[in-house]
Amino acid sequence: MVVTRQSGESLVKDEKYVWHGMRPYSPDATMVVDTASGAWITDENGNRYLDAMAGLWCVNVGYGREDLAEAAYEQLKKLAYVPMTQSHGPAIALAEKLNELLGGDYVIFFSNSGSEANETAFKIARQYHQQKGEGSRYKIVSRYRAYHGNSIGALAATGQAQRKYKYEPLAPGFLHVAPPDSYRFPESGASSEQLQSVQAVDNAMTWELSETVAAVIMEPIITGGGILMPPDGYMKGVKKVCEKHGALLIVDEVICGFGRTGMPFGFMHYGVSPDIITMAKGLTSAYLPLSATAVKREIYEAFKGSEEYDYFRHINTFGGNPAACALALKNLEIMEREHLFQRSAKLGAQLLESLRSALSQHSLVGDVRGKGLLVGIELVADKTTKEPLDVALVNRVIAACKQQNVIIGKNGATVAGYNNVLAISPPLTIEEADLDLIV
Ligand code: PLP
Repeated sequence: MVVTRQSGESLVKDEKYVWHGMRPYSPDATMVVDTASGAWITDENGNRYLDAMAGLWCVNVGYGREDLAEAAYEQLKKLAYVPMTQSHGPAIALAEKLNELLGGDYVIFFSNSGSEANETAFKIARQYHQQKGEGSRYKIVSRYRAYHGNSIGALAATGQAQRKYKYEPLAPGFLHVAPPDSYRFPESGASSEQLQSVQAVDNAMTWELSETVAAVIMEPIITGGGILMPPDGYMKGVKKVCEKHGALLIVDEVICGFGRTGMPFGFMHYGVSPDIITMAKGLTSAYLPLSATAVKREIYEAFKGSEEYDYFRHINTFGGNPAACALALKNLEIMEREHLFQRSAKLGAQLLESLRSALSQHSLVGDVRGKGLLVGIELVADKTTKEPLDVALVNRVIAACKQQNVIIGKNGATVAGYNNVLAISPPLTIEEADLDLIV
């Protein structure tokens, strides 16, 4: 298909009235998307593109699902809004369903976005320690290269300097350790505690004084920072270190959750039981905003004291919206009915193998990695030194894919501000022939 640049009145108005973040000023970069179905989006001029990023890693069940629209419509007619100081049927049913999917004993707090879910987790972690008489614990340990959201606290937890530059100073009490990076710094240990990347977390807590640390936050696989695969035993090791120092483990499943890595949640690959789990994106497949912070019951119980301020003083107007909850329930029903977690595992393994056999010999491809339908291709100028490929060339690859009607992403933050990892994260419903097109 021939791709024509968009033109017309809506682009002129877009340029005049709409502010787009995350890219330099450029009207040429705008695509006014009109419709979408399955894994394909169509712009106003009728050009079709395979959306190999599922929007922002979020349209897990694919576009154009009428039953999702109907679930929201029916709920809006019946009951449009209840503040979550009260409750309603879809929120209760969704909390129960999430608890079942998580396979543990969790209580759910609803918000609207991944950033808010993480902010909620930080406040819960800090107050929990206060409730237990350990008010000195406030620090949150995160990893460099991780992204945890755009609000001041979630950005403080983020480990990508280029995203914080010009907005600092952010929230105090957040510190960062090096993440595992099995391509650039391969490591293995006889036990998980011997991994250097686990020792980095252990040392940070020791040197900061354990009794000042509230929690560690981590994604199972760092996504926006380059799809960094952890070595075997890493997450288990971090969990043990948290237990040793009395800190909570918060797992950010905003991208890795809901089948992205081939399991309901990413942590499930690694045999750990997190204390707090945050989720958004795939929870509604992005049809409506909704996020959740799942908290182990014993943490929740600590907020049941009768003293003033023992309860969690936290509310958001839109969190747990009935239509969003009803839609999320339908979304999870679709995922189970269509076996999308298993599909992601199977198709992801196929995609990884095809990409490896097509690209591994290429002089600019350093590494092809991933889990489920979450794949990263690290581009390098030199395979021996692993020097990241110049970003102008990375952009040319992305543009060339768009010329072929395939939209892929880029991230990495291998060097601050430097994105040399191509990202592929399509809807879990993508057709096998479309995977061939990506390759
Ligand atoms: N956590 C992770 C891992 C993310 O990738 C994102 C967004 O991309 C967030 C949190 C923030 O989510 P939101 O953009 O919904 O606030």
